[in-house]
Amino acid sequence: MERRFQLKSLNTFSVNAFSKSIVTAHHEHTLLKFWRKAYSKGKPVLILGGGSNILFLENYSGTILLNRIKGIFITENKTEWQLHVGAGEKWDELVVHTIKKNIPGLENLACIPGYVGAAPIQNIGAYGVELSQICEYVDAIDLCSGKKIRFTCSECDFKYRDSIFRNCLEKYAIVSVGLRLRKRWKPILDYHELAHLDKFRITPRQVFNFIYIIRHKKLPDPVLVGNAGSFFKNPIIDIKTARCLFQIYPNMPYYYQKDGRIKLSAGWLIEHCQLKGYVFGEAAIYPKQALVLINRKKIATGTEIAALALYIYNKVADKFNIYLQPEVRLIGNYGEINPKKLFM
Ligand SMILES: Cc1cc2nc3c(=O)[nH]c(=O)nc-3n(C[C@H](O)[C@H](O)[C@H](O)COP(=O)(O)OP(=O)(O)OC[C@H]3O[C@@H](n4cnc5c(N)ncnc54)[C@H](O)[C@@H]3O)c2cc1C
Repeated sequence: MERRFQLKSLNTFSVNAFSKSIVTAHHEHTLLKFWRKAYSKGKPVLILGGGSNILFLENYSGTILLNRIKGIFITENKTEWQLHVGAGEKWDELVVHTIKKNIPGLENLACIPGYVGAAPIQNIGAYGVELSQICEYVDAIDLCSGKKIRFTCSECDFKYRDSIFRNCLEKYAIVSVGLRLRKRWKPILDYHELAHLDKFRITPRQVFNFIYIIRHKKLPDPVLVGNAGSFFKNPIIDIKTARCLFQIYPNMPYYYQKDGRIKLSAGWLIEHCQLKGYVFGEAAIYPKQALVLINRKKIATGTEIAALALYIYNKVADKFNIYLQPEVRLIGNYGEINPKKLFM
């Protein structure tokens, strides 16, 4: 019988999928070697960090390549700290490391699961800060040529939960990320849950502690309950559509975007379809946060979770005429599945 490898502990949804093989790369040259070896056999390769932004819909027919390239190198000048971080460092450990070293700037991005290499892909963000605000460069290996390329922050084309890497995952392996943190620290407390904090007295460590507490209250711990954080992105719509919606739903929360468009809360939309806590087989909507789908007892299948997501998508579309887009990547037998195939 052909050997297969369990992926349950490699995805935070804890979906019980299998792959043909799993390899771990600790260096750039081994990463490329493993990738080429698997690719030469005509098998697909999926580079993975912590599996906290993916949903396996079925078994994976190729190689899972875990990027564990380590290293945190810190230099400084008069005005800023520059961090060069290996893709295989855990993001939340990096945040704690900087806080302990009295280097502020990452505190709002505390407790985001996953690895540094995945952070630029969807331009991670939380509590009013996005990676794009502190990212100086991203180093990636072009898997076809084997060449290492440095993308400047503007070349990464960061947008809300988006970057150039999001749509060409099979092309690049991110190996390190450069961050630039200003010494002249200003707390970012615009987010409504932080707005009551005293901006003149608060320290980076206090912001970190505060966010740590709210996140642990609000979000399920993947160790106990399978989940991948927010399943859908917050939809961004034009002002004309937004005005029509606000007439019907005057309490609908919204956020102005720099380009004049309006960002809505996907959680609010789902909640107002009366779906909070909705159970679908072994999958469910987290009762404390409607944007989070959960694998309650860690026995739901990927397709069960996807079916729940489709149900939510249709309900929100019917009620608000808004079409949600998944933030989580859907992984099929041969690689990523275009969400349009599922959500039509
Ligand atoms: C409880 C919880 C809370 C969360 N909160 C937030 C939040 O506040 N903000 C936020 O933005 N996200 C959040 N997330 C989502 C997730 O943590 C982030 O998207 C994270 O950056 C994913 O990292 P990862 O290493 O787990 O990526 P993975 O899930 O392993 O990979 C994600 C995608 O990137 C690709 N990939 C991974 N590493 C590389 C690499 N080195 N090179 C090329 N491709 C790669 C994979 O193939 C996959 O397609 C949350 C998730 C959970 C479970």
